[in-house]
Amino acid sequence: MEIKRGIPVSPGVAIGTALIVETEGVRIRRRFIDRARVSDEIARLKQALNEAVADAHANRDAISDKVGKQYGAIFAAHALLIEDPELTGEIEQLITQKAFSAEYAVSRTMRRHAKALASLNQPLFSARSSDLIDIEKSILSHLVGNQGDPLQNLQEPAIILAHDLTPSETANLNPKYVYAFATEAGGKASHTAIMAGVLEIPAVVGLGRLLMDVSGGDEVIVDGNRGVVILNPDEETRERYLVLQRQFGSFAKRLDEIRSLPGQTSDGVRALLLGNIEFPQEASHCTDRGADGVGLYRTEFLYLNKTTDPDEAEQYEAYLSVLRALGADKPVVIRTLDLGADKLFFQPEKQLEEKNPCMGLRSVRLCLRNAPLFKTQMRAILRASRFGDVRIMFPMVSTLMELRQCKMLLADVKEELEEERIEFNRKIPVGTMIEVPSAALMADELAKEVNFFSIGTNDLIQYTLAADRTNEHVASLYSAGDPAVLRLIKRVIDAAKARDIEVCVCGEMSGDPLYTLLLLGLGLRQLSMTPQNIPEVKKIIRSIKIEEAVQVAQEAMRFETARDVNNYLREQTRRILPEVVVN
Ligand code: PEP
Ligand code: MG
Repeated sequence: MEIKRGIPVSPGVAIGTALIVETEGVRIRRRFIDRARVSDEIARLKQALNEAVADAHANRDAISDKVGKQYGAIFAAHALLIEDPELTGEIEQLITQKAFSAEYAVSRTMRRHAKALASLNQPLFSARSSDLIDIEKSILSHLVGNQGDPLQNLQEPAIILAHDLTPSETANLNPKYVYAFATEAGGKASHTAIMAGVLEIPAVVGLGRLLMDVSGGDEVIVDGNRGVVILNPDEETRERYLVLQRQFGSFAKRLDEIRSLPGQTSDGVRALLLGNIEFPQEASHCTDRGADGVGLYRTEFLYLNKTTDPDEAEQYEAYLSVLRALGADKPVVIRTLDLGADKLFFQPEKQLEEKNPCMGLRSVRLCLRNAPLFKTQMRAILRASRFGDVRIMFPMVSTLMELRQCKMLLADVKEELEEERIEFNRKIPVGTMIEVPSAALMADELAKEVNFFSIGTNDLIQYTLAADRTNEHVASLYSAGDPAVLRLIKRVIDAAKARDIEVCVCGEMSGDPLYTLLLLGLGLRQLSMTPQNIPEVKKIIRSIKIEEAVQVAQEAMRFETARDVNNYLREQTRRILPEVVVN
């Protein structure tokens, strides 16, 4: 048995046999043509390009229908790239000047660009690089004919293991046959990861070396909840996961049992269980799981594959559609743009060359330098605020000054709207994320300025431990259970309580059942998570008395290492709810 850890990007547990998808896809050899045939070869290329554009459009339409326009936009962008005159000019030049075959010219050109992007070593460009490989495959399949894509020809259920999957490969996976997938490459913000979540196929990415250690037909477990892949599991592990899978598989049944019940301890302490969303369509994932609202709407995803900034009307519409899906009484926390660093970037050419983008011009820092962009979004949020319980939240705030500047801009926008006699909720609650250690340390001061805090543990852990959240090589350092992180979290909760403001955790930690007892025991009464995790967390909450959680938290805070904290929490969680698998 071998256990691999990666980045969980789509929850669910699957047990099945491995189908290994080779990395290279269609292999092209170097081939030259007779110079007299150059114009025929160019005609052949043009035909293949047209067919690839038609494929991209068909993908765009199918995916738009299936899951929404934003996702279809990925393939619309593919079509634009295939038609890009510079790119096609480069391919044609290789055919006319070097007498390369169309296949070889396409492959050379696309791979050169893909490699250049991948070598920048930034998640955003790596994602774009896999888009180029996707396009290459599509053009080649028209030039050489489909050599039998194993993903398209699945006849029986399998777990797909690959170095990487392109966005369109993922979007076309048939959930009937694909129980799960796991890839060596990839990060949270890739299109592949987003598609997996939308299709609700359990998935783990960023596993590092995987394919070398497994053969097609081996038994594999993919735990998309915790980012674990187990190769050739032993009997005990298999049994354990079968139980978990049954729990997850009987999800609909469990949903019916607890969906309408509150997240409340057996002695009546209520915790709000909210959903994190990236796209408006995901609001239904929240309502399906009985979420108490949306605790984090990551609005930067509206910029996915856009060549121009979404305007006020488009943003306003997106927010309204979430409000409509949720209902006017449920809170919806709209987080202002968290662009830059590992996040999607709307216009890559505008992206700065930064040596250390996670510590660079991202998020509110970027927005404060670009007031029109920031104010446009604030206008859209404020206008939507009259239709529901909308709250506005600023990400990556690291100083008090920054928060004050954000609030000043918000006040300006409110004034503008008033002058224009546009209605909005004048008392819209304003919150800040606490995801930088400086903000956690200054929480008592920040608490005087806002109506609520939301602790972003994904970034808080990375900045506290100086461990990149997407880097598998430092994954052992990156732990929510680290005592340094816990002390900061406690400090933030205490500061919020002292000022009587609301506090929530919206990082991945809040959806991990390992930390439910601890967070509750530290005093949290709001947890915002990937909607699919809500039932499991609710189940734990409903199985305990608050005093148990308080004791567990007190004990956990005494440990000196993340390993001891996590071991202890694992033991306690299993004691309370043996069916929950905690790693
Ligand atoms: C976080 O950092 O914990 C968070 C919720 O924000 P994001 O994952 O979008 O950076
Ligand atoms: Mg964050």
